[in-house]
Amino acid sequence: MRILLTGGAGYIGSHTTLTLLEHGHDVVVVDDLLNSKRAAVERVESLSGRTVPLHVFDLRDETRLDQLFARERFDAVIHCAGLKAVGDSVARPLDYYGNNLDSTFAVLAAMARHDVRRLVFSSSATVYGENAPLPCQEDHRPLSATSPYGQTKVMIEQVLTDVASARDGLRVALLRYFNPVGAHPSGRIGEDPQGVPNNLMPVIARVAVGRLDRLQVFGADYPTADGTGERDYIHVMDVAMGHLRALEHLDAMVQPARAFNLGTGTATSVLQLLAAFERACGHPLPYDVVPRRPGDVPANWADPARAQQELGWRATRGIDEMCADTWRWQSQNPSGYPER
Ligand code: NAD
Ligand code: UDP
Repeated sequence: MRILLTGGAGYIGSHTTLTLLEHGHDVVVVDDLLNSKRAAVERVESLSGRTVPLHVFDLRDETRLDQLFARERFDAVIHCAGLKAVGDSVARPLDYYGNNLDSTFAVLAAMARHDVRRLVFSSSATVYGENAPLPCQEDHRPLSATSPYGQTKVMIEQVLTDVASARDGLRVALLRYFNPVGAHPSGRIGEDPQGVPNNLMPVIARVAVGRLDRLQVFGADYPTADGTGERDYIHVMDVAMGHLRALEHLDAMVQPARAFNLGTGTATSVLQLLAAFERACGHPLPYDVVPRRPGDVPANWADPARAQQELGWRATRGIDEMCADTWRWQSQNPSGYPER
């Protein structure tokens, strides 16, 4: 298939692009590079031995998007582009609602004009909010989120479901990622957060490589096995494979839009992840326990049964592999991708 991958220079998008290329698909990327670097796409090209056209513009530029659709005749769209920092979204809600919703509207309008009927969307486990029973199951209602970022995912899922119901033949997979971590095993592409990282794995990786002094553990008094927060970490290469499986499944989907959890089904605590990373990097990592971070849930993990049964997808990589691959990427690229 000829695929438009929005946000293809970003963390999930770059790994997904590589996986699609390795399975014989053609990929064209649109990315505004606000949270990513051109080098990510160049490294995907060198790893795959294939060319990946990169168009640098904001998806809300409907004229350029329309011209691209007219030229490329896409078979499918994978829509990864979006702003994604939870705390930032609380400070700048209008930027998040504006960017994430309007870019999705622009993609949908172009798909309608050019009769493209397959869409895979990057949603998030954040749509389960604070009160969903564990493990999280796709049919849980109501969806709710605790941040403007999360609300954009809830709203976009609703928009896509309504549009797919109204437009004959459109099929949409809503992929709810749990906590993507890790990197391609080559160490050539990986997660390169711009500015101060917020998520646990990039913080641990920066402590390991000496870019940060210590990890702050946000709370050790949760009702969990060791008192620290538990999450369902999933290897980014498994997430990438989830996109391929979803894409292959779209034409067989009975419902116009369907949600799928991409998680392992197991929870790992902060201290367990830290210990696994120490095994990977070979030295102890200093940390302090500090108060809980506002808005954090004690624990969260997926029921991945639907993706297994309907997509034929399951996570195959464990915590040690996630840490080893993250460490290879971080130690080989201590400052992330080069500027160009
Ligand atoms: P990322 O920031 O690395 O990649 C997103 C890319 O989209 C960036 O390169 C950014 O510059 C680009 N972008 C944003 N708005 C754009 C616009 N209007 N036009 C063109 N390009 C635009 O993020 P990621 O971690 O790769 O996440 C990809 C998607 O997955 C996002 O939608 C995110 O919300 C979702 N998601 C990520 C995680 C995670 O932990 N990484 C978890 C759940 C869901
Ligand atoms: N966490 C932490 N220190 C950090 C960042 C995160 O202790 O510097 C904890 C956080 O409280 C949560 C877990 O690590 O229990 C995962 O946090 P992350 O932000 O990576 O994912 P999310 O909370 O969005 O699922």
